[in-house]
Amino acid sequence: MTANTAPDLLDLAPLGAGQFARIEDKIASLMRTRETVVTMQGEALLPLEAAIRSAVRPGSTALNIITGPYGETFGGWLRSCGAEVVTVSAPFSGAVGADQVAEALRANPAIDFVSLVHAEAATGNTNPVAEIGEVVRAHGALLMLDAVASVAAEPLLTDEWGVDLCVIGGQKAMAGPAGVSVVSVSARAWERIAANEQAPRRSYLSLLDWKERWIDGGRTALPHAPAQLEMLALEQAVDRIEEDGLEAVMARHRAAAAATRAGARALGGGLSPYVVRDEDAAPVATTLRAPGGKDARDVVAAALAADASVPVQAAAGPLAKEMIRVNHYGLDADREVVLASLSALGEGLRALGLPVADEADALEAAGKAWDAVIPG
Ligand SMILES: *Cc1c(COP(=O)(O)O)cnc(C)c1O
Repeated sequence: MTANTAPDLLDLAPLGAGQFARIEDKIASLMRTRETVVTMQGEALLPLEAAIRSAVRPGSTALNIITGPYGETFGGWLRSCGAEVVTVSAPFSGAVGADQVAEALRANPAIDFVSLVHAEAATGNTNPVAEIGEVVRAHGALLMLDAVASVAAEPLLTDEWGVDLCVIGGQKAMAGPAGVSVVSVSARAWERIAANEQAPRRSYLSLLDWKERWIDGGRTALPHAPAQLEMLALEQAVDRIEEDGLEAVMARHRAAAAATRAGARALGGGLSPYVVRDEDAAPVATTLRAPGGKDARDVVAAALAADASVPVQAAAGPLAKEMIRVNHYGLDADREVVLASLSALGEGLRALGLPVADEADALEAAGKAWDAVIPG
């Protein structure tokens, strides 16, 4: 540790209301929303919980769509708010269909709130939000979307899709900080929240506090000291996306997913994409099914023994034995990083005695899939 690394982070002019509001406007633009946004001073689970606790009350009926681990977390919060919870699940190897959602809404006319995850970094799938948003809007329920793993990785059209509460964080495709996060709140959602006696007030989970103490006052005075370093990092992340071009950043993520899937298929040895259809695969991360008879954690350990630098990990929880996760978000949405990940996996599988194809052929297949998205 050298003493001269500190002043850059410590001796900053205070972050004022004007700059805070400007950062919010940049994020709102990235999210394609003209509704209000609230920048909560914590990791994305904070606005996700805040959105549910604000909009849902005893007597609510909520449709919770589960396509990965975050949906399961939402179900617990919804129940603890006193809501009756209807669940629609899709296997983690695919996506949920708008027809399934429409059917659940038809069967349960009382549903007034729908929670959905856009892309799942943990399970590697992505859901068709545009179509789902349409049926939810026709039914009249509020739609909450967890877009933490989709923002900047794939199109996110908050207003056009009718998303009432859209949550993003900076730590995935934005290559930014994890310590602050943003939720957009539609006018419809504010009405519902204001009418909810159970909505958190005078609480760290309160959206209403931000409305009353920040938004309604014209965003001229911050209610408390902001997480300055995280806010500045968030601004730099969104500025960098602006500089590189959102389309280009999204293309890198799409190319990374296409290359990882093609490379894994070409490697063989029993390795295969966990998400079956290409259109259901998230651009943020690719999940792979471990070869039959092998524990995914052993495959990951062997791959990391070959190259400890690659963003490859075993899945968490009950999927740990069967699912390998190749992260390719943020700065890792990069041709060289993806090829290195595949190379390490190939070496790892070979070390475990599995009959993998010639690695050069697999890397060539991956490179071709990358170049089909971003011509070199
Ligand atoms: C990453 C992610 C989050 C944020 O959770 P962390 O625990 O900080 O990783 C929330 N939702 C989704 C869908 C995510 O992929």
